Amino acid sequence: MSKTVVITGASRGIGSQCARVFAAAGYNVVINYNKSEERAQALLAELLAQGISAVAIKADVSDSAQANALIENSISLFGGVDVLVNNAGIGEQKLITDVTDEDWARMMGVNLNSAFYCTRKVLPHMINKKSGRIINISSIWGVCGASCEVHYSAAKAGLIGFTKALAKEVGPSGITVNCVAPGVIETDMNKALSEDDLDALCEETPVGRLGTTDDVAQMVLFLSQESGAFITGQVIGVNGGFVI
Ligand code: NAP
Repeated sequence: MSKTVVITGASRGIGSQCARVFAAAGYNVVINYNKSEERAQALLAELLAQGISAVAIKADVSDSAQANALIENSISLFGGVDVLVNNAGIGEQKLITDVTDEDWARMMGVNLNSAFYCTRKVLPHMINKKSGRIINISSIWGVCGASCEVHYSAAKAGLIGFTKALAKEVGPSGITVNCVAPGVIETDMNKALSEDDLDALCEETPVGRLGTTDDVAQMVLFLSQESGAFITGQVIGVNGGFVI
């Protein structure tokens, strides 16, 4: 029977490429989206046309009840969830003194709480099967910190602590938990950067280019399959050497 992957925030960017890569590897694919209904439906149509078993489910994963429903529906549609990719995320650039309580709560809600909600809901099922893979999409800024992105960096660093602790807790149940920490990847998240900023980032990157969504998605797939069986609690940088 085919394995099933749930990818949060799969309507665009890294999440949508993860959906394509897992589909090509034969998984049933749950495409979660929140606001980008059209993009999610277009991706769903693309996968269905290839004969892939896939579904698009709307859920704001920063909301506990909606995250629970996403996982419950995925399990009942496909009989289980083998891989959870906690990818949904938002960024924002602000001086820390300008960050409001609402900004802070939203940043934690989408980038960190969502991973807790989805993981908590899927774990009993994975523990029961004594197998599962959880991949959390952090960031280089969760490792190094970024000026004017303190709330983002804190949320992404939180995901790293979450990953390490959980890997210890559920390893004996046959479940691996890892973080992928991308560098600068060409997606909507970076569309506000100017050409000059992008050139400067390329120059600072040893391999001399920005990352692609496929660079990240291939690592997520690697960790999800037999190739990743002995890797857990790790933070894998996919950043072209930007941080070494
Ligand atoms: P993106 O192109 O802006 O896409 C973000 C995705 O997250 C969208 O599919 C969006 O869905 C979804 N999302 C946002 N809020 C959501 C919510 N409340 N509930 C469900 N889904 C939600 O960003 P990306 O670059 O692909 O980023 C993906 C992940 O990689 C994020 O966690 C990000 O922090 C991380 N990352 C990105 C970079 C980079 O340079 N791009 C670097 C390091 C880490 P809707 O549009 O449907 O709402």
